[in-house]
Amino acid sequence: MNAFEYAAPRTLDEALSVLGEHGDDARVIAGGTALVTMMRQRLVSPGYLVSLREIPGLERIEAANGGVRIGALATHREVETSPLVQERIPVLAETFRRVASVRIRNMATVGGALAHADPNQDPPVTLLALGARVELRGAGGKREVPVEEFFRDYYESALEPGEIVTGVVVPRLPGASGAAYVKFLPRTADDYATVAVAASVSLEPDGERCRTARLALGSVGVTPIRARAAEALVAGQRPDAALLHAAGEAVKAAVDPLSDHRGSAAYKREMAAVMVGRALTQAWNAALGSARPAR
Ligand SMILES: Cc1cc2nc3c(=O)[nH]c(=O)nc-3n(C[C@H](O)[C@H](O)[C@H](O)COP(=O)(O)OP(=O)(O)OC[C@H]3O[C@@H](n4cnc5c(N)ncnc54)[C@H](O)[C@@H]3O)c2cc1C
Repeated sequence: MNAFEYAAPRTLDEALSVLGEHGDDARVIAGGTALVTMMRQRLVSPGYLVSLREIPGLERIEAANGGVRIGALATHREVETSPLVQERIPVLAETFRRVASVRIRNMATVGGALAHADPNQDPPVTLLALGARVELRGAGGKREVPVEEFFRDYYESALEPGEIVTGVVVPRLPGASGAAYVKFLPRTADDYATVAVAASVSLEPDGERCRTARLALGSVGVTPIRARAAEALVAGQRPDAALLHAAGEAVKAAVDPLSDHRGSAAYKREMAAVMVGRALTQAWNAALGSARPAR
């Protein structure tokens, strides 16, 4: 690993000004779980590390318009165990619970998971299915980017040089709807997904058919993707076996997985179709449960 200087500013403005001063030579560090590995492997050699850990409030998880706002420095474990997230958006707590091991989840942060833009990560898939928005701060001010537009390419995001992810805003699911996250990992429980699917489904007032569906997949291309053709097939229908099969076939045409030690591209394509069926079924059942009057 190269020698570097370490700054731990106490305000966002200070962090932005250090980033601006050192340009490409500076890197933000949050949990360090990805960055330190990349530095050890000499994939990156920053001369300046700008830690976000001393900036007060950046780890806050709070209620926002019926949903939640999660600060960039919140760890995966804090999201997983947050009573607010568990109550308002249980699928998000469940998704973070599926990341690696407790040791990693205690370090890795929400901002790091977004900025790192690794297409095999879990949280971006569910954030995409839920229609979340990423908050960014740069020298020029604040902006918000839908997660759908945030991931640009393999390990590339919409972050401009010198910008910092400050948080993510996740809307609450509407009434009579449900969501599910399915992570297929046949090797070990703490591995990255071979294929991951998040689904959210809302019901028609008759409770018999699906009104809308959102489907997102991870580990099937250079970024997490939304499976829009499959979503369109499901909208307005009752998800029986034939419909789930058709949705799976539509997903096969949408994914572009890489062959690696987790499976061949052909295997991942098949598994994507299977996992979409499972995720839709679970989300559908959750929606039916939420629509049923409490006894
Ligand atoms: C062994 C192992 C297994 C893992 N398994 C999984 C898994 O199964 N699923 C999963 O989803 N994740 C998994 N992870 C975690 C994931 O791959 C990343 O390491 C993690 O999400 C990065 O978060 P961090 O806070 O540690 O980021 P860091 O390592 O601190 O930073 C990562 C990158 O993001 C930038 N960055 C960080 N925070 C910000 C910010 N707020 N604004 C702008 N840029 C920022 C850094 O400059 C750097 O480029 C695993 C990690 C390890 C080490």
